[in-house]
Amino acid sequence: MHLPTSTTAVAAIVRTAAEAGERVKVIGGTHSFTDIAMTDGHLLSLDAMNRVLAVGGPDGFDVTVQAGIRLYDLNEELASRGLAMPNLGDINMQSIAGAIGTATHGTGAGHGNIATVVVGMEIVTGDGSICRTDEDNDPELLTVARVGLGALGIVTEVTLRCVPMFNLQAVETIEPLADLLADFERVMHATDHVEFYWMPGARRCQVKRNTLTGMPAAPQSKPAYIRDKWIAENLAFGTVCRVGRRYPKAAPRIAKLITSAASERELIDRSDRIFSSPRRVRFVEMEYGIPFDAVPDAIARIGALVASLPFPPLFPIEVRASAGDNIPLSTANGRLSGWIAVHQYIGAPYESYFQGVENIMNDYSGRPHWGKLHFQSANTLASRYPEWDRFQNARRQLDSNGTFANAYTDRVLGPVRVISA
Ligand SMILES: Cc1cc2nc3c(=O)[nH]c(=O)nc-3n(C[C@H](O)[C@H](O)[C@H](O)COP(=O)(O)OP(=O)(O)OC[C@H]3O[C@@H](n4cnc5c(N)ncnc54)[C@H](O)[C@@H]3O)c2cc1C
Repeated sequence: MHLPTSTTAVAAIVRTAAEAGERVKVIGGTHSFTDIAMTDGHLLSLDAMNRVLAVGGPDGFDVTVQAGIRLYDLNEELASRGLAMPNLGDINMQSIAGAIGTATHGTGAGHGNIATVVVGMEIVTGDGSICRTDEDNDPELLTVARVGLGALGIVTEVTLRCVPMFNLQAVETIEPLADLLADFERVMHATDHVEFYWMPGARRCQVKRNTLTGMPAAPQSKPAYIRDKWIAENLAFGTVCRVGRRYPKAAPRIAKLITSAASERELIDRSDRIFSSPRRVRFVEMEYGIPFDAVPDAIARIGALVASLPFPPLFPIEVRASAGDNIPLSTANGRLSGWIAVHQYIGAPYESYFQGVENIMNDYSGRPHWGKLHFQSANTLASRYPEWDRFQNARRQLDSNGTFANAYTDRVLGPVRVISA
């Protein structure tokens, strides 16, 4: 594994590999569920390239960082400068480049995914050249390269348009699924960030609503945090999942137990501390972006599917929303998206569940999360992305020899060219 400490070192590794006809892949936090970050060639980690380089831009909110920085470090660095990311996903373990490159998202109908806040990038391309792009300098490259699946080059620096740091008021409630679906559009737009978790078969869901507030932080006490986040959401949940995996017939009762164990609570804290939580129970996941209005129908169909499965899911379904954007391979390209994520406890059967859900998602021109499990290929995906060819043109220009290709990109993007043995 290469651990470069500078862009020129990254470029040298890529140049040498490309000249030898070998492939290169960079890993971030290795938090993808797919083989997207695997390679049969040279593996790089940018863990040693994790510094904040500059703060500037028109309002002083643009922060340039080395691309290997993990979100947990980035959030602290931003907070120490009075800044924050406008939206984040459920965890903070990813590198910024890994999160951007797979269009990682949080929830919020008025918020794009993490890649949408990128306003500048430095990229090492397939022959080891270094190129830079921002809103004034080659904006076409900036638009396309933000969600690159690691297939366009190695991102070495990114500039993020941040916002002044803010607190979120988090309100967690238990509500009937039928009410949420009947009023889906209003529910998802009424609060800055809304998501809900539904255990198929259950009548009620856990709903999380996070709203920007000017109020001071009033976090949970440490014992309450340990009780809710570590004991209930991780230790107890993990134990329940292990029992369900061992005794599948008990799984429906376990599903009810999980739903009834969810509690209501309210707190205020720094935004990144509300967005992300520890996730210690291991699982596999598939997540689809579909047109926002299709979500209630799709959820009802998943409910019917689950009732017919030989082995039921032990994890709830997560429902979120994101604004549309103009990034060619962003899963939210051109459309306000509803997200439906299905999970299964590690080691429990998931294939027929995920395949069944994917069949449903196909009916809505669903786009799978690039970092999560799915069974699609370039053939099935191309027509779901109106700007597919724009991405492929950029790929041919930046990596004409397929230095950054791997089995995953061959499957979901098609080969750039076949490398002879
Ligand atoms: C517990 C858990 C919770 C999650 N929660 C969410 C969530 O809330 N929302 C969501 O959308 N996703 C979520 N994900 C998915 C996750 O955000 C993505 O899979 C993300 O890509 C992982 O980032 P990473 O740094 O681990 O990248 P990796 O998995 O290591 O790599 C992902 C891709 O990025 C590429 N890459 C990494 N660094 C660079 C670089 N410097 N230049 C170019 N390409 C690079 C890799 O080559 C690979 O193609 C979750 C995953 C887990 C395991």
